[in-house]
Amino acid sequence: MTLALQGVCAGYGTGDVIHDIELTVGAGEIVALVGANGAGKSTLVKTISGLIPARRGAISLDGARIDRDSARARVRLGVVQVPEGRQVFAGLSVRENLRLGAYARTRDAAPAQFADSMTAVGALFPALVPRFDEPAANLSGGQQQMLAIGRGLMANPRMLILDEPSLGLAPVLVAEIFRLIASLRGEGRGILLSEQNARLSLAIADRAYVVENGRIALSGTGQELLNNPEVAARYLGVGKGVSVTEGGEQARLTARLKTILTPSP
Ligand code: ATP
Repeated sequence: MTLALQGVCAGYGTGDVIHDIELTVGAGEIVALVGANGAGKSTLVKTISGLIPARRGAISLDGARIDRDSARARVRLGVVQVPEGRQVFAGLSVRENLRLGAYARTRDAAPAQFADSMTAVGALFPALVPRFDEPAANLSGGQQQMLAIGRGLMANPRMLILDEPSLGLAPVLVAEIFRLIASLRGEGRGILLSEQNARLSLAIADRAYVVENGRIALSGTGQELLNNPEVAARYLGVGKGVSVTEGGEQARLTARLKTILTPSP
């Protein structure tokens, strides 16, 4: 599945915040959006998921327009956003939060498919399994982020949109979340990752776009942008602790990142 934006503008009140956005995310790709606080990344991802209407331009999935569809209809088509700030339901159990993720497909999915999804999410986040019956409020910040991603995966996304998944997490958990996101790339799922931690997101991204003042200022492979001096000067201050700037192919970089991020036994 390919997500494509052409000439998309959106905003709040009378003003546009994002302007003439041209962007694609293909099947099996991780595409990063990097940019400063307030550049418009959240506005852009909310426009894609249908939380904010596109005022101009087209958003399409495999060529079919979705920009007039409701957010819920987009979820049913496979476009699923994991919102910024985790936003799990603190008073519900971990299991109930995950079931809510599958809500949009309750009409079409057989119970066995839920069970399979729960098993898959459990395999991806083993730390959550013993806590399935506890309130989500009991989880640590990192575990809540894992739950938020797991809840998104329960909707069986073909295009998963992650808004600032590392926000507010301790560095060790940031590393864990990025390792996990890199592992979600398979199965033909496209991933759009909006992140302030440009260094880590470019390291795991196949391609990336730099957003400045609501416009796409630059785009390229994750590696190209990592090696771009302008990008380095402006955006690579965050996440200095993990070095991923060596040359080489993206696959090698990703493999190296995974090694760095995999906790030692
Ligand atoms: P951040 O990392 O801080 O979320 P961002 O790149 O995601 O930054 P946005 O949240 O999209 O940026 O914000 C872009 C601009 O839109 C900012 O100037 C912000 O003040 C404005 N904005 C965001 N949400 C609203 C809203 N609900 N109403 C009015 N203006 C808003």
